[in-house]
Amino acid sequence: MGDPFFSVDRLQTHFPIRRGVLRRVVGAVQAVDGVSFGIERGETLGLVGESGCGKTTVGRSLLRLVEPTGGRVTLGGVDVRQVSGRQLRTLRRRMQVVFQDPYGSLNPRMTVRGILEEGLIVHRMGTAAERIERMQRALERTGMPADALRRYPHEFSGGQRQRIAIARALVLEPEFLVLDEPVSALDVSIQAQVVNLLVDLRKDLGLTYLFISHDLSVVEYLSDRVAVMYLGRFVETATAAKLYAAPLHPYTQALFSAVPSVDPERRRSRIILPGDVPSPSRPPSGCRFHPRCPLAETVCREVDPPEVAVEGHRVHCHVAARELDQAGGDTAVASQRIAELMTSANPFSRAAAAGSV
Ligand code: SF4
Repeated sequence: MGDPFFSVDRLQTHFPIRRGVLRRVVGAVQAVDGVSFGIERGETLGLVGESGCGKTTVGRSLLRLVEPTGGRVTLGGVDVRQVSGRQLRTLRRRMQVVFQDPYGSLNPRMTVRGILEEGLIVHRMGTAAERIERMQRALERTGMPADALRRYPHEFSGGQRQRIAIARALVLEPEFLVLDEPVSALDVSIQAQVVNLLVDLRKDLGLTYLFISHDLSVVEYLSDRVAVMYLGRFVETATAAKLYAAPLHPYTQALFSAVPSVDPERRRSRIILPGDVPSPSRPPSGCRFHPRCPLAETVCREVDPPEVAVEGHRVHCHVAARELDQAGGDTAVASQRIAELMTSANPFSRAAAAGSV
């Protein structure tokens, strides 16, 4: 099989920490530290994890809204980190972003026409008449009336503003969209409409998405595959169906245990992790999750767990690797066993299961 449409190899984005009058570099915040993945054309990769785990930095690094400090990113074979000038402009048109906050991301002093046309002018796309036609088409696709062009963002509701933000991305005819918490700021009743719009657009226009969210239910609905991120690294990746049915990494298990489910098969004992996420400027040795992991062993504190993969289900965990081995590669059996170990090893989860937390 050839390279995926979008390919990321050992992406690293560190931010220097400067101190003193001379602003000397005394350390680095390792926001993203050695992340690798691919996305096929037309696919949606969901990216989940707690606030501060680095998921937004991954999205921004791919688009070079922040400059990565290491690794390789390619879109359709073009090395995103190596291009400049006109080539970079073309690449930026092909990769667009929709941000979380539809109130902050649209300039309140510009009409919708000004907001949508800005990119078309920068990328020198079409005559004035062609640009209007393109903008009307993009608005129509997102369910907005064509007369919205004459109006200002404050005249619209939150859901409509997010539709305008999506239209602003679409007008440039991109191939790849980073959707960074695109529905988190919206009312629940509006979220479903925008999520369905994103599903339809992907199908109709053949778009490829990186969908960043902390809402596990929305991610499951929208994504083909899902990656779980912790402290700057991917800890588990699988198809949405496999990951939600049989999570292997203890962090994924804890994350999913917090999601209420009407399906009795998927109801899990609540696992409450002790402590906070450590600082990305001083990540723990070995497995970065070990200070909070109920299953941590001596090896976890010393050795960074290598990736183990079973039919595309990838996990970085010493205990998961051992349980998979003992289960003969059966992820469902290994997942069940890890869940039992987590419940019996973690006093917080027992209390929660008994209903006293
Ligand atoms: Fe927990 Fe060890 Fe697995 Fe890390 S490697 S998640 S500390 S069991």
